[in-house]
Amino acid sequence: METDPIYWRDSYARKVDAEVIARSDEGFATDRTVFYPGGGGQPHDTGVARWGGSGHRIVRAYRDGSLVYHVAEDGLPEIGEKVELEIDWDRRYRIMRLHTSLHVISAVMYNRLGVLITGSQIYEDRARIDFPAEEMNKEYAMEIVEEANKLASKGYEVEVFFVSPEEALKMKHLFRVAEFSKYEKYMKGPLRVVKIGDIDIQFDGGTHVKNTREIGEIVFLKYESKGRRNRRIYISVSP
Ligand SMILES: [Zn+2]
Repeated sequence: METDPIYWRDSYARKVDAEVIARSDEGFATDRTVFYPGGGGQPHDTGVARWGGSGHRIVRAYRDGSLVYHVAEDGLPEIGEKVELEIDWDRRYRIMRLHTSLHVISAVMYNRLGVLITGSQIYEDRARIDFPAEEMNKEYAMEIVEEANKLASKGYEVEVFFVSPEEALKMKHLFRVAEFSKYEKYMKGPLRVVKIGDIDIQFDGGTHVKNTREIGEIVFLKYESKGRRNRRIYISVSP
């Protein structure tokens, strides 16, 4: 039993008809879904599920093994029941724009300083990204964001594809991960790759825009020094 994660192939799918295949104390899992269950620094989706003639707010989605569960504010559909699932698209689209922004910023940082990101988190309206870069200060952080904007405005296509573990190992040099071995636990099935033109390539389970122009403007919000080496940048996207 598993949930087909439609968001992995089509990040623009907003709505789907599905069938309930499992229930937990909190929620219900379906045979397919457009709800991102959270993970990799990207928050879960929210939205609406419709069954039995009424709509129910979905306040949380989470993954458990190969199933994606949806938690409704009220009620729980029966196993076998048909439900229509629809995500809050405005919220999700902003999150997609923020996620792709972080990849563009990490490309700029890699080109400038050769550093790899040490952490990131996306929220509904902003995102943060951390680098081990002692030399960074606020002006430098603002310059990075400016350069990321220039790069994004060139309109790079964002491709999503799947590779086998064998292919992934051959492509090893392309990925900007400090320890490739940390990905070995995922090396069983096909691996999902997100590639932005020729500027960035990463193993990634998140949802992205199709073209970097869709980001709009990346807005610098805040710079923070976290500890001795870590430097953190907060951004949002406009409009
Ligand atoms: Zn990512």
